Amino acid sequence: MTARAERYLAEIGITVYTRRGEPGSTRSAVPDAARVVADDVPVPPAAVPGAANEIWERLAAEVRSCTRCGLHRTRTQTVFGVGRRDAELLVIGEAPGADEDRQGEPFVGRAGQLLNAMLRAVGLPRGDVYIANILKCRPPNNRDPQPDEASTCTPYLTRQIALVRPRAILAVGRIAAQWLLQSDAPIGRLRGRVFHYGESGTPLIVTYHPAYLLRSPLEKAKAWTDLCMVKDLLQRRA
Ligand code: URA
Repeated sequence: MTARAERYLAEIGITVYTRRGEPGSTRSAVPDAARVVADDVPVPPAAVPGAANEIWERLAAEVRSCTRCGLHRTRTQTVFGVGRRDAELLVIGEAPGADEDRQGEPFVGRAGQLLNAMLRAVGLPRGDVYIANILKCRPPNNRDPQPDEASTCTPYLTRQIALVRPRAILAVGRIAAQWLLQSDAPIGRLRGRVFHYGESGTPLIVTYHPAYLLRSPLEKAKAWTDLCMVKDLLQRRA
């Protein structure tokens, strides 16, 4: 492992490694099964250059003035999304929290700092990806999104996905993963493999929510494996 990789791993709190293949190893970049699946992933067509700016602005304005569900009554502001509009990786979280509601940007609190470090660790800095949530408004007291709120808000996310045309999606946390995959399987069963999302069949990988990792730091090694799977998938398709 390079000194740089070690530094990054230390940054996200992983300081103990075992060699790939050793019992209990968490260091393997990509499980063999996932490599096989990734090889079968279709390549989305190249993004259409230009012309999209106006569509983005219109969509952002629509979200800003949205009153389709009750969350508009309690929000400070909507949280649309941030990042490269032509990103290869789209990160999708659950919903804005208090910090995001205040600042109008996804993943800016403590969990966001950890997410940034995790992304940086695999060479995908925040500025290179696009980050959005299932919900554009904060649920009061950070409660879980309700199904009707997610249903009402998902068309915005669908349009963001269609505009970004990412080569991979990272679903962050149980709520985002279960909603996007329409599954009630526990997150431990959803991570570690590649799904295909929507009509485009965009490869989708699930990982733990950074807020959960802050509470359960021992799981960071698994999140590292997930992000390495994303990186590997993007590199294989480059
Ligand atoms: N958690 C999320 O899922 N999204 C955010 O934007 C912030 C915290």
